[in-house]
Amino acid sequence: MRASEPDPNILVWFRGGYRPLAEANVNILTHALHYGTGVFEGIRAYWDERQGELYMVRAEEHFARWIRNCGIIRIGVAENARELTRIAADLCRRNGFRTDVYMRPLGWKASPRIGVQPDDNDAAALIAIPFGAYLPSENGIHAGVASWRRIEDNAIPGRGKICGAYVNSALASDEARRNGFDEAIFLTESGHVAEGATCNIFMVRSGKLVTPAATDNILEGITRDCVMTLARRELGLEVVERSIDRSELYVCDELFFTGTAVELAPITRVDHRPVGAGVIGPVAGRLRQLYEDATHGRMDTYHHWIEPVYQKAPAAV
Ligand code: PMP
Repeated sequence: MRASEPDPNILVWFRGGYRPLAEANVNILTHALHYGTGVFEGIRAYWDERQGELYMVRAEEHFARWIRNCGIIRIGVAENARELTRIAADLCRRNGFRTDVYMRPLGWKASPRIGVQPDDNDAAALIAIPFGAYLPSENGIHAGVASWRRIEDNAIPGRGKICGAYVNSALASDEARRNGFDEAIFLTESGHVAEGATCNIFMVRSGKLVTPAATDNILEGITRDCVMTLARRELGLEVVERSIDRSELYVCDELFFTGTAVELAPITRVDHRPVGAGVIGPVAGRLRQLYEDATHGRMDTYHHWIEPVYQKAPAAV
């Protein structure tokens, strides 16, 4: 599915100030454009019509992860996670968004010159755009194991959300779509299941919820953390982080992806085989509803995960 291009008049936060998207541009020689030396994040905000409120989901944690990941390739971010959360709320208010929103922080090596060796000329931006579903997952999706392997941590760290590393995801997701799948599943070099091209993966097997460990070259997803918490606290499920064999994908009871953009996407077919009964399973169905309720401000226990943009947000810095 290809998202349409956002309105060029949308305001973005670009190198410390607000300007229209159409005017937030970079030099063609920018280091990050040639060598992939950028780090990004993805954050959702959900509009709740009943409460007339836009809720940012775990925004401060996303910004904290972004700052830490920028540190992997030594991109400096001047603002702290709290300040960035305020800027994000301010950006949504300035745009007057009353719809679901996706926010994209981006930090990059900005020097306009030839040469791989990076310097300290760093830049940062935050884009916020109206955004709907990322995968057509309402009735379940069809996933396929990619012929491309997941990049190793000691090549380019997958946990870092480093721009250049997403060539790996782009190759796998292009292959998956051309082969008739909705999303790709990466294996590690050792042949274990890592994650989707843009999301983490969970399996239900023998009554337990199983997901690859953080050391299996995954991005340690914030949605993954939400879902593990909801499974334990709300469903009383045992959650296990361990390596998963490829063939376990074919014999398990349920499979689903999680991610900020993907949300919770049940997988009903994998590599042309039905997963379980070939319909959305009870665990995926219940967790999807719980995740939606928690992130839309309908569950008091999880109010600390969300932050309202319009009512209580502090003034912009
Ligand atoms: N894995 C990859 C490769 C991703 O790009 C994403 C999206 N950020 C995820 C997992 C899910 O992470 P999160 O739940 O924090 O969005």
